[in-house]
Amino acid sequence: MVAVSSWGRLTAAEHRMLPLADRSKVHLSIAGQRPGLAFGMGRSYGDVCLNPEGALWDMRPLDRFISFDQPTGRLRCEAGTLLRDIQRLAVPRGWMLAVVPGTQYVTVGGAIANDVHGKNHHRHGSFGDHVLGFTLARTNGELRHCKPGDTLFAATVGGLGLTGVIVEVELQLRRVPGAWLEVETLSYRDIDEFFALSDASEADWEYTVSWVDCLNRSRRGIFMRANHVESDQPEPDPRDDFRWPFVPPVSLVNRLTLRPLNTVYFHLKKSQARSLQYYQSFFHPLDGIHDWNKLYGPRGFYQYQCVLPRAEGVAGIKALLQTIARTGTGSFLAVLKTFGQREPTGMLSFAQPGVTLALDFPYTGDETLRLFQQLDAIVVEAGGRLYAAKDARMPRAVFEAGYPRLNEFLPLRDPGISSAMSRRLLES
Ligand SMILES: Cc1cc2nc3c(=O)[nH]c(=O)nc-3n(C[C@H](O)[C@H](O)[C@H](O)COP(=O)(O)OP(=O)(O)OC[C@H]3O[C@@H](n4cnc5c(N)ncnc54)[C@H](O)[C@@H]3O)c2cc1C
Repeated sequence: MVAVSSWGRLTAAEHRMLPLADRSKVHLSIAGQRPGLAFGMGRSYGDVCLNPEGALWDMRPLDRFISFDQPTGRLRCEAGTLLRDIQRLAVPRGWMLAVVPGTQYVTVGGAIANDVHGKNHHRHGSFGDHVLGFTLARTNGELRHCKPGDTLFAATVGGLGLTGVIVEVELQLRRVPGAWLEVETLSYRDIDEFFALSDASEADWEYTVSWVDCLNRSRRGIFMRANHVESDQPEPDPRDDFRWPFVPPVSLVNRLTLRPLNTVYFHLKKSQARSLQYYQSFFHPLDGIHDWNKLYGPRGFYQYQCVLPRAEGVAGIKALLQTIARTGTGSFLAVLKTFGQREPTGMLSFAQPGVTLALDFPYTGDETLRLFQQLDAIVVEAGGRLYAAKDARMPRAVFEAGYPRLNEFLPLRDPGISSAMSRRLLES
């Protein structure tokens, strides 16, 4: 048994960890180990990747490339392959993953199971939109080949690992002119200005994202937009990444540190600027500090991420930020971004047309949970949903209200698979 925690470090429960290393035998290996759950890099924040006292099928040894067709950009790989390694293979050949989340330390299987999104949702949708097919092992010993249009494909993309174990994947990469992006940084004074900037940028800029000062009265922020560009700039030296060395006795993100940190960041970034950035720095700035999640201290932290439909989004985002500011909590890591008008591929995919807000909160006990109840009420009222990849506490009613295709999904679950989240939200 090993103690496993997810990125939020809220618990460290004992798990039976069973490495899967031979892709031809996965369907046989998992059949005798029920109930289990596939485990990628544990980069989900809450309990979607945990199965306390049960088995975790460790996908990380299944990290081999199977084939890459350079003229078409079609890549086949095992499901434990890291997005970082795909980029290292593809970028020097003029290709890239079409969608990447804020960290590259994520497996392909984990990216499909949460149908992750990046900063270019309005242009390229989410990760599942670029999956050409996969093999799914079920705990009854079956191996199923799934492709877009199949019911089991739509259940597995964003299916929280509950439909089977993805063994092997075929991805469509996208062409890029190189490894560099031209990035423009602008400041906004309030939420209305954020929406105006987003609307004005989406046609011409592939990537848009913003940082919002969650404690400032007017909710000012910094807006970033970027496009791929050709550049003869040499590849930068590999980053000398810093590893945060210890868990402090209390969260270093707290009421005393947050306001000054936000103010300094806003003033450093507020003047309009253009820069050339290497893809890793632009897509994954947080990866430069390993183990930064320890900064939140021994009790860990939650991330609260929701999406609200656009019509209700302006009022809803203002209400959420006002509620958060009243408590004086929140975090430096506060992201506000619009999603494009694209229907989600997966039955339980998170990203839907509208606007998403994501914020970290150090866990300080009941007051944190009481705040979330208030935020939940605003999200449900606005017809929004919470992101399961970040969640460890949403009530079942909030989940059901946000995911109208849940009843279509449930019969497609693999009965031999269960997680802490599925037991909390689905009773099994
Ligand atoms: C710093 C940081 C930034 C992030 N930024 C973003 C972002 O911008 N956008 C976004 O969408 N997410 C973001 N995330 C969340 C992260 O991308 C997702 O939680 C992702 O799913 C984690 O992948 P993983 O390989 O660590 O999987 P895990 O966290 O280990 O597992 C996640 C789920 O995938 C399932 N799973 C894993 N492998 C398989 C498999 N082979 N077959 C079936 N199911 C499987 C697990 O059972 C579990 O349900 C971020 C996380 C961090 C830490």
